[in-house]
Amino acid sequence: MLVVGGGIIGLSIAWLLQRRGHRVVLVDPSLDGPPAPGAGSQAALGVLMAQVFHRSSGRVWRLRQRSHSLWQQWIAGLEAEGHRLPRRRGLLLLAADAAEQVRQQRLAAGRAPLGLPLSLRSSEQLRALRPELPAAALGGLHSAADGQLDPPSVMAALLASARAGGLRTLALEATGIERRGGGWRLRCGDGTSLDAPWLVLCAGVATPGLLAGAGHDLPMEPVRGQALELELDDGPGWSEPGSGWPGVVVWRGLNLVPRPDLPGGRRCWLGATLEPGGDADPRALEDLRGWAGAELPWLQRATVVHHWQGERCRPVRQPAPVLESPEPGLLVASGHYRNGVLLAPATAEWVAERIEGAPA
Ligand SMILES: Cc1cc2nc3c(=O)[nH]c(=O)nc-3n(C[C@H](O)[C@H](O)[C@H](O)COP(=O)(O)OP(=O)(O)OC[C@H]3O[C@@H](n4cnc5c(N)ncnc54)[C@H](O)[C@@H]3O)c2cc1C
Repeated sequence: MLVVGGGIIGLSIAWLLQRRGHRVVLVDPSLDGPPAPGAGSQAALGVLMAQVFHRSSGRVWRLRQRSHSLWQQWIAGLEAEGHRLPRRRGLLLLAADAAEQVRQQRLAAGRAPLGLPLSLRSSEQLRALRPELPAAALGGLHSAADGQLDPPSVMAALLASARAGGLRTLALEATGIERRGGGWRLRCGDGTSLDAPWLVLCAGVATPGLLAGAGHDLPMEPVRGQALELELDDGPGWSEPGSGWPGVVVWRGLNLVPRPDLPGGRRCWLGATLEPGGDADPRALEDLRGWAGAELPWLQRATVVHHWQGERCRPVRQPAPVLESPEPGLLVASGHYRNGVLLAPATAEWVAERIEGAPA
């Protein structure tokens, strides 16, 4: 089978299919080179928000829950193979207004019967943390089971693990798809073509163009995101005894991810902006730099070490993600918008089940 696109989605699919005994070819021009400009996965912060999702039923809730559980298994398996996968547990959603606080209280109450570890934090509890949280936070909702993983490390591990198991990779651009006998033909930028009974499209924002060539209209649009890596000065750091930082902290939709595993032990990631289409907006970057008006002296004093950006792929006429089979042998696994890292394992499982459950 052919998998087109080697972001977190394509790598997860290729890795899982190969482990389940399928012969897989992964096609992506950026394999082994610098990431494609705009690719989402290399830009992602890797925040995993499965339990703090506002719904408790439906397709996306089930995908989030399944992915949450699969990530634990996948990480354990990859670490057993010797891959080092930096990650952290815990996620705190801060309430910026009374309406958000009420929503958090309802969410905590609703999750309790499901046995999910969500707990409310008072503003007094938040004020005790160092470095300080935004003073305007009215309270917060902590999820001990959510957290963050490092996307570049996970992607490198999936690729190495799949290759060790026999995955074939081609650093080529897919330029077109067409039906061929009982399967599919993929045309590549170097003039060659590949035939296979199954074709899986997960080429991010390039997916709709490839589908259009086979007569399928599944529009998706890019939504840019900018992110920063910051280094704290000599005030309180992440790993000091009693600092009690709750993991990832989300303030007005922007994530602050402590990264004590990065050089010096005093870095964090901050992101990401939401900018539909076009060029990166300097005003969005400025808002991000100040963590949406958090007014925290320790954050203002921190040094920007790295600034990057990428594109999320958002479906236009339907909710994210797009998991569809427009016709036999053709699978679309794309349009994950803001949660592709979280949803990668459940997406890969969806693909494997479609292929294995198809009539021979
Ligand atoms: C700044 C930022 C922060 C984010 N933070 C998070 C987060 O914290 N948690 C989370 O879950 N999600 C996050 N996301 C969203 C997440 O990154 C995406 O949902 C996810 O990366 C989508 O993965 P993908 O594999 O579908 O697409 P991509 O990562 O875009 O990969 C597509 C791949 O297809 C390849 N490709 C393109 N065209 C072709 C072609 N013609 N032929 C062959 N290959 C091709 C590209 O080279 C690329 O490797 C974030 C996104 C951004 C931009």
